[in-house]
Amino acid sequence: NRQWLLAKRPDGRPTEDCFEMVEREVPDPGPREVLVRTRYMSVDPYMRGRMRDAESYAEPWDVGEAMRAGVVGEVVESNSPRWEAGDVVNGNLRWADYAVADEDQLVPVDPDRAPISTALGVLGMPGRTAYFGLLDVGRPKPGDTVVVSGAAGAVGSVVGQIAKHAGCRVVGIAGADEKVHWLTGELGFDEAINYRETESVRGALAEACPDGIDVYYDNVGGPITDAAFAHLAVRARVVVCGQISLYNAEERPTGPRKLGELITKRARVEGVLVRDYVERYEEANERLAHWVADGVVQYRETVTEGLENAPDAFLGLFDGVNIGKQVVQVSDP
Ligand code: NDP
Repeated sequence: NRQWLLAKRPDGRPTEDCFEMVEREVPDPGPREVLVRTRYMSVDPYMRGRMRDAESYAEPWDVGEAMRAGVVGEVVESNSPRWEAGDVVNGNLRWADYAVADEDQLVPVDPDRAPISTALGVLGMPGRTAYFGLLDVGRPKPGDTVVVSGAAGAVGSVVGQIAKHAGCRVVGIAGADEKVHWLTGELGFDEAINYRETESVRGALAEACPDGIDVYYDNVGGPITDAAFAHLAVRARVVVCGQISLYNAEERPTGPRKLGELITKRARVEGVLVRDYVERYEEANERLAHWVADGVVQYRETVTEGLENAPDAFLGLFDGVNIGKQVVQVSDP
């Protein structure tokens, strides 16, 4: 049973020696526990926060501890009346081939509804984040202009499509031509900007959003967000979902930037944390599943093969390697 441990805390961008793979016995499930074989595991930007020894919305991992991840797997042994061998389940388990889970730590995954890996993406935590962040915090109205950064990622790609479905004009910002083409060519975004190839994101946003930005859904922070702040419309809503451009920064910018823009535009900035909505997960799951079945929401996954490549897949998030949701395939059925 291979598993990854946090070997050391990173300073800036994590390096190879922050991760250590060890071989351990396959654990025995105790009473009311089940043994799960990992089929897919998720790598997510928030994990960078857990590698750091600082207070955040996620508890830090201890050095020497097994790293945790959203996992979709198969029950191979069960001491619980609720699960039987062969069930496909989703839970917060480990970067490992096998893990033991408490019976109530798992939720079922229906393999007939969609490919099971989607329980880590469009039909999982990232999809729900997009749903609640956009609809509850961003509150888009038909005719609004919605700008989303990190637009070709797991959360951003769903945000843009829900906004289109809500009758908005949607502009995405992403870091590669292939991403931009996917957004406008297949997902129905009205425009998309490749921030790496655009001299001035601020100028490109001015052109793409002549009436200003009513909802800015922020996944990245930094200079892209500064550019968006310069084009907010009166009464704009800014949804702060993520700040990935700062997660590896050794020095954080001191204090919020561009706040003057909020005065002129009487705009509101609000953070969103998906787990606040746990009581409403079922609502999001149902609607997202329908939208996926109806083609209202399309998705893509970047699948890295092999548990041994999990750290690379994780680090790729900071280089924009992934299109759509990044997952690691750990085993075959
Ligand atoms: P993504 O699938 O979007 O992957 C991360 C993407 O971020 C990369 O593909 C890359 O795309 C982009 N990126 C990386 N570095 C930078 C940079 N310096 N500047 C601009 N873009 C960059 O990840 P998720 O969809 O899982 O997460 C998106 C954001 O949402 C993250 O910030 C995450 O922390 C946050 N989040 C928040 C939640 C909450 O409850 N608040 C829950 C889930 C996620 P590109 O090629 O475009 O640069």
